[in-house]
Amino acid sequence: MNMKIDPWSALNIDDYSKLFDEFGIQPFDDMVREIENPHKFMSRKIIFGHRNYDRITDAMNNNKPFSVMSGFMPSGKIHLGHKMVMEEIIWHQQQGADAFVGIADRESHAVRGMSWEKCNDIGINEYVISLIALGFEPNGHIYFQSKSEQVKDLAFELSSKANYSELSAIYGFTGETNVAHMLSAVTQSADILHPQLEEYGGPKPTVIPVGSDQDPHIRLTRGLGHKMNMFKIEGREDKNGNRYFSIRSKAAPEEALKELSQRIAGKTKLFEGHVDVFSADNFESLMKVVQDVEMEFGGYSFVPPSSTYHRFMSGLQGGKMSSSVPDSYISLTEEPKGAAKKVKRAKTGGRITLEEQKKLGGEPEKCSVYEMFLFHLVDDDEELAQIYTECREGTRMCGHCKVLAAERTEKFLKEHQELREVAKDRLDEYGL
Ligand code: SF4
Repeated sequence: MNMKIDPWSALNIDDYSKLFDEFGIQPFDDMVREIENPHKFMSRKIIFGHRNYDRITDAMNNNKPFSVMSGFMPSGKIHLGHKMVMEEIIWHQQQGADAFVGIADRESHAVRGMSWEKCNDIGINEYVISLIALGFEPNGHIYFQSKSEQVKDLAFELSSKANYSELSAIYGFTGETNVAHMLSAVTQSADILHPQLEEYGGPKPTVIPVGSDQDPHIRLTRGLGHKMNMFKIEGREDKNGNRYFSIRSKAAPEEALKELSQRIAGKTKLFEGHVDVFSADNFESLMKVVQDVEMEFGGYSFVPPSSTYHRFMSGLQGGKMSSSVPDSYISLTEEPKGAAKKVKRAKTGGRITLEEQKKLGGEPEKCSVYEMFLFHLVDDDEELAQIYTECREGTRMCGHCKVLAAERTEKFLKEHQELREVAKDRLDEYGL
């Protein structure tokens, strides 16, 4: 069965393994070993999958340029789910990435019918201020889609390569879908690819941290980036088993191919529509020449974006978090004492009676309070392991956990909201 993931309809994706099989998302386990100080979302398997994250570990471990980019649609309260993505962006910024955060006001306007004024208000007062308070540095880039000429221009260019059938296959668009909604999909591809524009240093690996429901954007963007590029490089073998590279023109001017054959060091042969390279030093140096020539001839030479995929937290009452059920989530801007009370009312994985709890132990896997610890409230792995073990062994009671989680939630929100007050006065440092 073809499983459609619709980023606009917050599906509860409970079987993540389907994503591996159906869409070719790779398990993140192997990547963690390549990372010196992985973020706790990585080591705790909250980030469970990726596409081409090897490009990012290579850049991080060898001091090469790379970017991180993600976006937020200004449509409601900023909550702990948004905080996760923000933490992932900030962590990559700390590892050396040029960091980009887009406020997807065009999407909110097109898909949710949100007024521009409201988009701006929510974008700044909910998302941007918390992003700064969480530690996003001013050397990164925060922008609104509607105010970025680069993103809008690139979206227009990309739309020349996107057709209705493709958008329909990915998102399930129908004849009733309005054009602005389709354009907002292409605008998000422009968001993802624009860190690779010449003004930001040209082609480079870019990682997009997202929830798994956002994968359609990644797939669309990788496809569009590929279509925009003038060349593709293929590894080939002649009849004697000698390996060589063939640089195939997709839409390159003839002069660009000629330039390539002259610029590449070593033995090359120019054909109509391709250049074969018989003695390149390595793929990376060859790629660099191809990128330089393509840029000189007005192309983009996009590197396919990488991505990471994280699990979602469930709602505090179990089931899905929902913006229409305030008791199901914690907002970063809500009153701390009220948030603490919500945590005390949260669904746990505890047994019905204390006797049963002591005898059978609790079920942290089904516990919203434990999820709060795992995702947000416990940084120390040993402490987390202790909570897990005590719960399982029946030596920990839910009341104790709830009090601890409520206290930490209240403390975090109090501190975060103080930092937000400081962040409000720093907007000009970010060009906002
Ligand atoms: Fe959850 Fe704590 Fe109860 Fe275990 S003891 S089920 S971790 S609240």
